[in-house]
Amino acid sequence: MPTETLEFQVEARQLLQLMIHSVYSNKDVFLRELVSNASDALDKLRLAALRDDSLEADTSDLHIDIEVDDDARTLTVRDNGIGMSYDEVGKLIGTIANSGTAAFLKELKEAQDAAGAEGLIGQFGVGFYSGFMVADEMTLVTRRAGESGGTRWSSRGEGTYTLETVADAPQGTAVTLHLKPADPENNLHDYTSAWKIREIVKRYSDFITWPVRLVPKPGDGEDTPEPETLNSMKALWARPREEVSDDEYHVLYKHVSHDWRDPLETVRLQAEGTFEYQALLFLPEHAPADLFTRDFRRGLQLYVKRVLIMDDCEALLPSYLRFVKGVVDAQDLSLNVSREILQQDRHIRMIQRRLTKKVLSSVKEMRAKDPDKYATFWREFGAVLKEGLLSDPDNRDALLAVASFASTHSEDEPTTLQSYVERMKDGQDDIYYMTGESRRSIENSPHMEAFQARGIEVLLLTDPVDEVWVDAVGEFEGKRLRSVAKGETGLDAVPDDRADDGEKEKQAEEYAGLLGWMKEQLAEDLKDVRLSTRLTVSPACVVSDTHDLTPALENMYRAMGQEVPTAKRILELNPGHPLVRHLNEAYQERDDRSGLVETAALLRDLAVLAEGGQPKEPARFVKAVAERLERTL
Ligand code: ADP
Repeated sequence: MPTETLEFQVEARQLLQLMIHSVYSNKDVFLRELVSNASDALDKLRLAALRDDSLEADTSDLHIDIEVDDDARTLTVRDNGIGMSYDEVGKLIGTIANSGTAAFLKELKEAQDAAGAEGLIGQFGVGFYSGFMVADEMTLVTRRAGESGGTRWSSRGEGTYTLETVADAPQGTAVTLHLKPADPENNLHDYTSAWKIREIVKRYSDFITWPVRLVPKPGDGEDTPEPETLNSMKALWARPREEVSDDEYHVLYKHVSHDWRDPLETVRLQAEGTFEYQALLFLPEHAPADLFTRDFRRGLQLYVKRVLIMDDCEALLPSYLRFVKGVVDAQDLSLNVSREILQQDRHIRMIQRRLTKKVLSSVKEMRAKDPDKYATFWREFGAVLKEGLLSDPDNRDALLAVASFASTHSEDEPTTLQSYVERMKDGQDDIYYMTGESRRSIENSPHMEAFQARGIEVLLLTDPVDEVWVDAVGEFEGKRLRSVAKGETGLDAVPDDRADDGEKEKQAEEYAGLLGWMKEQLAEDLKDVRLSTRLTVSPACVVSDTHDLTPALENMYRAMGQEVPTAKRILELNPGHPLVRHLNEAYQERDDRSGLVETAALLRDLAVLAEGGQPKEPARFVKAVAERLERTL
């Protein structure tokens, strides 16, 4: 086949430009990226060979070699791993399949500091291209294990690359960088120096489980010296705890997570006994943007006796801990185990239970020891963790114990349920909450008026999942979780110096006629009309019945494609409001009440609007309001 010259995809070209005119202060990371790719290729080959006996590949001496040629100023990273076919090279190296690339480019432009920009390289999986930070030409020769012919790819990073077949390529991949001219001012960046290479590998790739070797430069002597292995190849999780530094953990975290920041917390677990395993887990500092999407890649790396057998093993943690990264190394699993089998495996389920408890207890500990760190954690991952309140009843108490919530008690400091309970007023039996879009919209809601006036604390729940778990959980330490926008308030039980019970009874009598009449008139949409205990300022509000779905939940179910009937609401009137008072007077004075029907409907629509809903017939509502406004002029 003749040499093909092909164009890079637009995104790839943009990326290359960035690499060539590198914004990164730390160019050393290119070697980490290439070694990391090589290590992945060796992992893949070993797995492929395990799964397919007939694969004609040599797995007897898997390793990564680094070779330097001073005169030609080249540096080569060579592995004898899985390799790539001709098509794969075009697909994997010529384009950027990763949908996150646009986001990457955007973030890169926004990343002010070099440290941020640097980490983005790994995060978005553009590792290979980072070679262009230090090279003005890159060549890749590869042969896919089991295939006979090889492929040569070459590019100067300027918009095109060439592809050709080669006959005699060894199994695996060799990436050769034609290094940019040496900078005499700054020999810190001399990547032909053995010292420099040793240092980079030790720093970034020590834990790689394959030998990373430096191939000696050809000398004058007869026998060529042996290659020198640069990394210890020791799995961090297998080393004694006191021997491993935080830095080493962080390097591993970056390798498994593609995050450039340090993790917020490192969690280590060593299970002994009949089923032995080690786990090294990391809680990231930031929630990734796609955490709530279907495509989010979750899971831990699963090793069996130091051999990586699966990259994103979902079965090791429940979905609500999907942001946790890390490694589990089990002693007694089959190397051949498939995903399907893992989901059923008793041991894996045992590990999952244990890891879940360990993560939750670490969060609890974090809150006790380092409240700021906990605050960061909860801000980033609280919404995901709360999914567990629904899906994992066994750990419900542990989850409630580590959860915190925004509350009317403090503008900026979330509260725990425990502290809420400690602050409850005499006579208050329930934990009050309200769900909504934002703190502001909840605070301005009419449902909150009496609670605000009487200083009764309300939890402000603004995550979509909040709509659901509160019903499922129901209570905390015997205290009912009670929505301020549903059913009766229960506020009567809390002593109130402003209330006058005699007055209340009188009002009930006075309004009985109006309420009954309105209920009849508006029966199509409302199941009841009653006087409110929650309003102090607004004339009216609508509430859901205790066991009915709220409109937000109805919408959520509909968005998921389920059919749900619209539950009728309850209209509550504020007898202290002049509009309501005058309506009652008019009701009592008139024999013909047909003129009041529209006012009653308007009152209902205003209440619906106040909670962010839609009037029943918007056009009619607007017309009626406009007419009335006109009369005021
Ligand atoms: P990433 O490694 O984050 O996926 P890269 O741009 O570094 O991104 O590599 C793109 C893809 O090219 C890899 O996912 C892999 O499939 C393939 N690749 C890169 N280097 C090698 C290698 N040494 N051996 C086999 N495949 C490789």
